[in-house]
Amino acid sequence: MAQFIEELKKSHGAGELRLSHKGEQVVLMGWVDTVRDLGGTLFIDLRDRSGICQVVLGSEQLNDLQLEVARSLRQEYVVAIMGDVIARGGKPNTNLKTGEIEVLAKDVALLNRSQPMPFQIADNVDTGEEVRLKYRFLDLRRAPLQKALLMRSKAALIAREHFASENFIEVETPILTKSTPEGARDYLVPSRINKGKFFALPQSPQLFKQLLQVAGFERYFQICKCFRDEDLRADRQPEFTQIDLEMSFVTPDDIMAVCDGMLQKMFKHILNVDIETPIPRITYDEAMARYGVDNPDVRFGMELFDITEDTRDSAFKVFSGPATGGGLVTGIVVAGGASFSRKDVDALTEFVKTYGAKGLAWLKRNDGAFSGPVSKFVDVALEKALLEKAAMKDGDIALIVADMDASVARTAAGRLRTHVAKSQGMVNPGQFGFTWVTDFPMFEKDEETGKLAAMHHPFTSPRPEDVSMLSTDPLKVKTRAYDIVLNGQEIGGGSIRIHNQDVQAEVFKALGIGDEEARNKFGFLLDALSFGAPPHGGLAFGFDRLVSIMSGLDSIRDVIAFPKTTRAGCLMTDAPSEVDDKQLTELGIKRLD
Ligand code: ASP
Repeated sequence: MAQFIEELKKSHGAGELRLSHKGEQVVLMGWVDTVRDLGGTLFIDLRDRSGICQVVLGSEQLNDLQLEVARSLRQEYVVAIMGDVIARGGKPNTNLKTGEIEVLAKDVALLNRSQPMPFQIADNVDTGEEVRLKYRFLDLRRAPLQKALLMRSKAALIAREHFASENFIEVETPILTKSTPEGARDYLVPSRINKGKFFALPQSPQLFKQLLQVAGFERYFQICKCFRDEDLRADRQPEFTQIDLEMSFVTPDDIMAVCDGMLQKMFKHILNVDIETPIPRITYDEAMARYGVDNPDVRFGMELFDITEDTRDSAFKVFSGPATGGGLVTGIVVAGGASFSRKDVDALTEFVKTYGAKGLAWLKRNDGAFSGPVSKFVDVALEKALLEKAAMKDGDIALIVADMDASVARTAAGRLRTHVAKSQGMVNPGQFGFTWVTDFPMFEKDEETGKLAAMHHPFTSPRPEDVSMLSTDPLKVKTRAYDIVLNGQEIGGGSIRIHNQDVQAEVFKALGIGDEEARNKFGFLLDALSFGAPPHGGLAFGFDRLVSIMSGLDSIRDVIAFPKTTRAGCLMTDAPSEVDDKQLTELGIKRLD
């Protein structure tokens, strides 16, 4: 028996067996998911990557020694079973794909024992994430995680096949490199040989993929790791994966079309979902006006209305103030929302306040009349605007945000839109809503420093017609940048790049990056641009997020085999961890204490 594993080969996956295998002798190897002892006959659910199959171990087929092994089996022991596939004795188990059959064991071998589990290996565990991350190798035995990683692997393969079929080549770029400009903090690696100097881990392969265009590769892609030392908001990871691409001699349309093709194949082959292409495109300005955000969820309507012009003469100062003072009066109409209670509306008011709005005005429409505290201010212009522009009907509620700062009003109304849609069940979780958002502004103002910062990154090309505004009116400059948004989440972004040294210098100037700093940081890129750089552009998909949305899982952690916590640590390996003094000395690093 001890020779079992040497003599026999696993013949099938446990989850692959069907009635069509009836009568076949099979060898299964895997984990004991559950054991039931029904008076001498043992039933085990044997689990491996392919699924679960019921195995019957009875005294008619097994000798005493074999029965003794069978009786010693516990959860998560590793076993090999040789037996015949038979039709299941009792009723088929409709919960299992293998539910019509079972395997009648003729031999059994214990391949390894297991300690008792720190938590149940079940589909839905309520064990805290900390324990699960500590024993990630056990957590990964659970079917939803196995499924997610399998999906991830398929998606990566489809991406590779797609880009290969489109004549791209995969090129690896360095991990030990120089700071790259995606706007986050770098992870630094001290150099032992060049003491006092540091490599930075790449925040993305941005500069290298541009250099590959200068080198003439024309179509590059890579599935690569990126590193950003950010304070981790809920769904970020310090290291994450991008599907990264770059192309020469192209327009934004060409790049979007290649990406549409990849998404179409992934969704068809993995989820059997048809995506219509070209995926719709809207400009950044339109997205902000209609949805209040640059990553709109287009699975439902309830678009923002703008009643600024219609409230200029309102007696209600909350509206007329912003309307005449350069602010914005905006909001949403919630169909059927007239049934909202006072408590509901108060909660929504608190919600918009978290986005800086001062409050929320509301009006209900019932039996052809408005009601609510603001109703006494409804004049002809506002009534007309709400009924015609905002298409408000009987039974609806209008939720209105007004602010002197248009962006505050817009953001609050935009967030309110998705919040209400979720709480009112307007979003079908199985639905996928894609949109491209194009023509982003080149710069945004850093509220703290008052300085301009690149909204995408400083290598993004302004629209040709906007280049002249770089020095005169930089905040008005729009770019040839585009984001791809799925279900209200950005799953990728890119741009046509600057391939002209002078324009690049002007952008650095607008960003307050002096010549010397530019040379120090990006000298190699500036040099490359002067050696016949072709016009080029590209994009990167956030692969983890894409797969997490496809698999219906909330967190990107669920689609990463070994993720880190929000404190940027690994509970399983205990990284980051202390190092000994000798290592530090070798690196030329002194402890502070
Ligand atoms: N490097 C960019 C990013 O990581 C993507 C791109 O512009 O291609 O977001």
